[in-house]
Amino acid sequence: MKQLDDFAIRGGRPAFEAKLHVAQVNLPDRERIEEMIRGIFARRFYANHGPLVAELEERFAASVGVDHAVCVANATLGLIVLAAALDLDGPVVVPSFTFPASVQAIRWAGLRPLLCDVDPDTHMLSAATVAPLLDQGVAAIMGVHLWGHCCPVAELATLAEGHGTRLFFDACHGIGCRRADGAVGGFGVAEVFSFHATKVLNAAEGGCITTNDRRLADRLRTIRNFHASQTFAADVPRLNAKMSEVQAGLALLSLEQLPENVAANRRRFAAYATGLAGLAGVRVLPPPDGPEDATNYQYVVVEIDPRQAGIDRDGLLAVLQAENVVCRRHFYPGLHRMPGEADACLGRDFPATEALAGRIMQLPNAQNMSADTVARVCELIRDILGNAAALQAAGEGRAS
Ligand SMILES: *Cc1c(COP(=O)(O)O)cnc(C)c1O
Repeated sequence: MKQLDDFAIRGGRPAFEAKLHVAQVNLPDRERIEEMIRGIFARRFYANHGPLVAELEERFAASVGVDHAVCVANATLGLIVLAAALDLDGPVVVPSFTFPASVQAIRWAGLRPLLCDVDPDTHMLSAATVAPLLDQGVAAIMGVHLWGHCCPVAELATLAEGHGTRLFFDACHGIGCRRADGAVGGFGVAEVFSFHATKVLNAAEGGCITTNDRRLADRLRTIRNFHASQTFAADVPRLNAKMSEVQAGLALLSLEQLPENVAANRRRFAAYATGLAGLAGVRVLPPPDGPEDATNYQYVVVEIDPRQAGIDRDGLLAVLQAENVVCRRHFYPGLHRMPGEADACLGRDFPATEALAGRIMQLPNAQNMSADTVARVCELIRDILGNAAALQAAGEGRAS
């Protein structure tokens, strides 16, 4: 057991020599990347709907089980393109607890977001949280699947249908996830995935919009390209959201490795769950456990109860950071506290978002982390909680 002055924040040596990160950075084999890039140079086809983008669209659509996949340069652009393609007339309901790009995209599409508090257990929208907002002339609901878990899609779909509003999803955390009613990618009118380097599927930057609606796919393909040679629909705005061949090549390699990467995430998740089991004040957010549920285990989310743990989330985070365990507090402080979002709040309170922003954090889960390293992180957290009173007396963290 460590003593107070053994902790790096008190001047001791960090428990880990190199920083441990939350981000995945799942990189395919170096040799296979080089081979892929040699192919691009041999074909001299670098951008503008090359063969690798076409192959990725076909494979990704098949892997998700949808009719159309439209690849884009990143998911933020994908959300902008989708919101524009839906030709919405009215505000869009967006959760207050999500990555800022979700709401930025709505604004760049010329629409007003309407922030909605989330369910405190799932951290996502539910019919109960959205329903009170639907008397505001809402044109669409954008659900965000968080942490590799699915939104309650069926109840959101029923609600949207009853009010004649569109429903679509930010599926940036949702690759490889499913529930009894289907796989992420096929819910709502469309879903948007991110292939950013930090996500489970890594194309360095990149994204994809999936839909079963042929007409919508035509509009998405038209909007994504500024050039008239790619026109599949009339009267739509246009921009440049095209994916490059290098991105598509990386995404194809990463797609092949997806089952392997998810399996590694699952092993690390299990190691965390075991290592932190029974530790008072630290609750690991459990994965969905229905027989047909599947998650990618990308995020290991823990909730800190400061009274039981003896130290609050920010105190624990600071002590861990000093030990080179670089935890994150996504999505602090909540979008309702972001400058410029007052017109999205309508003076309402966001108690669930506030509570989550103050109590949860994500633990490191990068590709190169072994189960053994995870066990050492858990041991370290136990040591910190064991010294919570001394750390607090020394000014590190609070207990309420
Ligand atoms: C990463 C992320 C985005 C942005 O994706 P990019 O591909 O980086 O533009 C949007 N929403 C959520 C929930 C994300 O995690």
